[in-house]
Amino acid sequence: MITKKAIEKFGAIRTPFYYYDVELLKKTLDVYTSYTKKFKYNAHYAIKANAEPRILQIIQKAGLGADCVSGNEVKLAIKNGFAPSKIVYAGVGKSDAEIKTALKAGIYSFNCESVPEIQIINDLAAGMGTTARISLRVNPDIDAHTHKYISTGRKEDKFGISPWEFESVTNLIKNLKNVKLIGLHFHVGSQITDMSVFPLLCRMVEQLQKWFIDRGIKIENLNLGGGLGIDYANPNENPIANFKDYFTLINRNLIVRPGQKVHFEPGRAIVGQCGHLISRVLYVKIGQKMKFVILDAGMNDLIRPALYQAHHAIENLVSTGKITKYDVVGPVCESSDKFGHNILLPETHRGDFVALHSAGAYGQVMAMKYNQKDLAKAYYSDELLK
Ligand SMILES: *Cc1c(COP(=O)(O)O)cnc(C)c1O
Repeated sequence: MITKKAIEKFGAIRTPFYYYDVELLKKTLDVYTSYTKKFKYNAHYAIKANAEPRILQIIQKAGLGADCVSGNEVKLAIKNGFAPSKIVYAGVGKSDAEIKTALKAGIYSFNCESVPEIQIINDLAAGMGTTARISLRVNPDIDAHTHKYISTGRKEDKFGISPWEFESVTNLIKNLKNVKLIGLHFHVGSQITDMSVFPLLCRMVEQLQKWFIDRGIKIENLNLGGGLGIDYANPNENPIANFKDYFTLINRNLIVRPGQKVHFEPGRAIVGQCGHLISRVLYVKIGQKMKFVILDAGMNDLIRPALYQAHHAIENLVSTGKITKYDVVGPVCESSDKFGHNILLPETHRGDFVALHSAGAYGQVMAMKYNQKDLAKAYYSDELLK
C-alpha cells in the first residue's frame, strides 16, 4: 500500500522512480523466516530478482544467504555483507573468470548445469590449489505451468543436467580430485501459482536422489530452488506470498534423510510486492477507438510486460474522477511498450501519479537505457517518510 503521506512526498521527486516499502519487505522476511526456522530449512535469496544494495542488506540481516547467477553477483553479495559460506552460484554459462572469482571467494556451492562445466571447475580449482564444492542442478522434466520464458525444468529447457546423464556425471566426478559433490539442486520455474507443482517436484526429488543413494553416493543437501509466485492481480489484498501452503506442502511431501539439509532460493516472493514503479502521466491522448494514458515510465524501466506478457496492477494515486477505460503505455518507440489494455482508472489527467505495483522483482534490475532514457532511481519508504 502506498500511503497518502508517501504520495505527498512524491511531488518533489523526478519521475519515474522505484519506490520500496521497507516495512513490507521486512514483514515478508519475518513470515518467510518463521517457516524456515520452524522446519530448519536454509534459504538463499536469488539476487537477480533485485540487487539494490539496501534491499540486499535488509535480506542479509534477516539471515538469508545469496543465490547468484554471475561472478559480479557473487562480488556484489560479498560487498553487501553475505558470508561466502552462504553463497551459491548457478548458471548455464559460467565463464572461467567468473568461476575463478567464486573459487577465490570460497563460496559454499557451484550449482553445476552441464558435464563440461564440472570438468572446467575442477581444472580451474586444481590450478588454484583448492577444491570446489558442487551440486548438480538437475532438470527433472517438470512443467511448472508458468509462462514459457520463465519455465526452466522441462526437457527442452537449457537448464540443468538430465537423469540420462547421471551415470557419466558420477563417473566423471569420481575421477576428479578438485570437486566434491555436496548436493542436488532443482529450480523448475518462476511465478509458480499452481501449488500442485510443488508436491510433484518433491516426488521427483525423491525419485532422482534415490538413484544416487542406491549407488552409495551421499547427498548432503537438497536444494529446491525458488519459484513461488505472487499475486500480481491483487497486490494490496495479498501483499505476502502464500508461504504457509508452500512450506506446508513441501514439508509434507519431501522425504529428508537423517543429516540432510534442505535449501531454498526465493527471489520474487521476497521482493516482488515491496516495489512500485511510480510515474507521472505525460499526456492523455484521445483516439478514435481508444483513450491512451501515456506515462513517463516505459519498458526501459520495467520490461516484464513486453518480455513476458506480464501484467502489473495499475493505480492512479491521485484522481477520484469517473471510471474510464484506457490503454496505459510508455514513451518508448516500440508497440510492445504497453502496460495495460482496457484498464479501468478514474479519469486521468496530465501530471497524475500512476503506480505500477508488484515491481520489486525483475523490475529495476532489468532496467536499461534504450532510447537513451535515464535509469530510474530507488527511494525507500523509511527514508522518505522520516
Ligand atoms: C531466478 C532463480 C531463482 C529465483 O526464482 P524466483 O522465481 O524469483 O523465486 C532461484 N534459483 C535459481 C537458480 C534462479 O535462477
